[in-house]
Amino acid sequence: MSENNKFTPIKTLGEYGLIDRIKLNARNKNKNTTKGIGDDAAVIAISKNESVVISADMLIEGVHFDLMYTPLLHLGYKATTSNLSDIYAMNAKPEQILVSIAISNKFSVEAIEEIYQGIKKACDFYAVDLVGGDTTSSTTGLVISITAIGRANPRNITYRNTAKKGDVLMVSGDLGSAYLGLQILEREKAVFTENPNMQPQLNEYQYLLQRQLRPEARKDVVKMLEEMQVVPTAMIDVSDGLASEVLHICQQSKVGAIVYEEKIPIDPSAVEVSCDFNINPTTCAMNGGEDYELLFAINLNDLSKFKNHPHFTVLGELVSEEKGAKLKLKGGNSCKIIAQGWNSLLEK
Ligand code: ADP
Ligand code: MG
Repeated sequence: MSENNKFTPIKTLGEYGLIDRIKLNARNKNKNTTKGIGDDAAVIAISKNESVVISADMLIEGVHFDLMYTPLLHLGYKATTSNLSDIYAMNAKPEQILVSIAISNKFSVEAIEEIYQGIKKACDFYAVDLVGGDTTSSTTGLVISITAIGRANPRNITYRNTAKKGDVLMVSGDLGSAYLGLQILEREKAVFTENPNMQPQLNEYQYLLQRQLRPEARKDVVKMLEEMQVVPTAMIDVSDGLASEVLHICQQSKVGAIVYEEKIPIDPSAVEVSCDFNINPTTCAMNGGEDYELLFAINLNDLSKFKNHPHFTVLGELVSEEKGAKLKLKGGNSCKIIAQGWNSLLEK
């Protein structure tokens, strides 16, 4: 195409820029639409004490998963849990999902049944009902799109735009492992493609592979927060990497942040494997994605409730917007946090 055509390549906007552009033309007309585009899920008011939260996500073969190393059972499980994660990120409880699939004729009935077994396993574990969806054909790969529906008391819903300067930034679990799991799978795929007689060496990487292939959503975090009587001032799930998610909270809440590199929770096996790959473990946590942990901000007054809590780590603090979002490095220097998360629109 010529340089001076009037069409704008999508990569000039990126995924987030494109969503912002779509949002510009989406004015909500119904007064029960409490939250439209821009958070982990939309919020619809039902009554004074009840809101419904809804989120949709799509997984595309060749973009989000590779069937060479993704068992179909795990694929169904992950497609479900990654969606439920967005409902938990609103501090809500998922109750139903709708599953839509596009399939080509390379798939057998048994293959589709295996995907649905994975979906069922996740539905059983998270006490969610599969209530509908759509089935259509695809000329190329497999597409799975899931819409998750949850419920919450509006007073407990956690948005991205309500954090305040002085809040403490916290995260559940550990970060970076899912990305390293993907690197291992890609490495073994390359070895196998080169020499199909080579068997993949995967036994020693169980935790990292499970984080990539069969991630859980942090249902337990929402329960623990409720028991601790803490409503975070903002919350988001870590699907695109810590950097992107910190920036989403900062941009939407109009605050800055200081994240301390030494505090970022990284599993020892992730540190070890990142060395094998010659990648900085902090980079995996900041930019890797797909960890499905919950990143949240709390009021300083709630901090004592988290003392020595095994599931949560204090990552840093929120500061004034002018200070920007910074990563304070182990050596003492600071660098600007830049989102380099999973961005399929820029990769191609
Ligand atoms: P997450 O990473 O939490 O799944 P996304 O970055 O995918 O969130 O989406 C951010 C927000 O943009 C959500 O409110 C989502 O519903 C909305 N969104 C994403 N894509 C579209 C689209 N094509 N049309 C309308 N809204 C969209
Ligand atoms: Mg999300």
